[in-house]
Amino acid sequence: MKYIGAHVSAAGGVDQAVHRAAEIGANAFALFTKNQRQWNAKPLEETAIAAFRSACETHGFGPGQILPHDSYLINLGHPEAEGLAKSRAAFLDEMQRCEQLGIDLLNFHPGSHLRKISESECLARIAESINEALTHTRGVTAVIENTAGQGSNLGWRFEQLAEIIEQVEDKVRVGVCLDTCHAFAAGYDLRTAEATNAMLDEFAAVVGIEYLRGMHLNDAKSELGSRVDRHHSLGQGNIGLACFTALMRDARTDGIPLVLETIEPAIWAEEIAWLRSQQVAR
Ligand SMILES: [Zn+2]
Ligand SMILES: [Zn+2]
Repeated sequence: MKYIGAHVSAAGGVDQAVHRAAEIGANAFALFTKNQRQWNAKPLEETAIAAFRSACETHGFGPGQILPHDSYLINLGHPEAEGLAKSRAAFLDEMQRCEQLGIDLLNFHPGSHLRKISESECLARIAESINEALTHTRGVTAVIENTAGQGSNLGWRFEQLAEIIEQVEDKVRVGVCLDTCHAFAAGYDLRTAEATNAMLDEFAAVVGIEYLRGMHLNDAKSELGSRVDRHHSLGQGNIGLACFTALMRDARTDGIPLVLETIEPAIWAEEIAWLRSQQVAR
């Protein structure tokens, strides 16, 4: 079963995201459980939690079909003590919000060394941050997103994702969300079905396919290997449609949220329907 959806707005309350996802024909979705550009947020109210849970039940979204994204401010590999502590506290809050909402997964960008510590030191800090959050929560899996490698962001090479996971104690509660635009910008070619399969083969060899817990389906305005993160609508960017057809026909993407973060919300329903149409009976 393919779970396909988009990163929908949670304006008006987290339950509104569920309704928006249902409206576009999605059976998966992503959302921010708080304002993604602010450090602090009010705790989720009981009524909001109940409304979210009941909307998920009404529309048939199970915990594994929802892939929330954390705040853009969090840097779990922050080189400085203060920034690191602030990030870790905010990340724990995000994990706890997922627990409250009955969500199993939390998607986040690994972190940046800001050119102040080495790559390995930064990756170790990220793993330590994950360990800390997992110790204080139950049930929620930390899902690391591969990045485009813009600036000093780590996690653009699969080897870096593997180095983080290697240092995470609870391997059952750590995973990866592969963003196609980020992978392409990081230098993984996706312009043909063969290249797309080869990328997943490489992920399986370097990280392990059991860690693939979600995907972001985005075409790219940026060029292959440019390390620039610019999403585009499916088929309108430099990746092209063959990649997404291949992903829809690959059993390795079964049973995980496949989430559009493409730039035109008005055509998400169309993009979702097109993705579904690319599946072949197995
Ligand atoms: Zn992201
Ligand atoms: Zn993404």
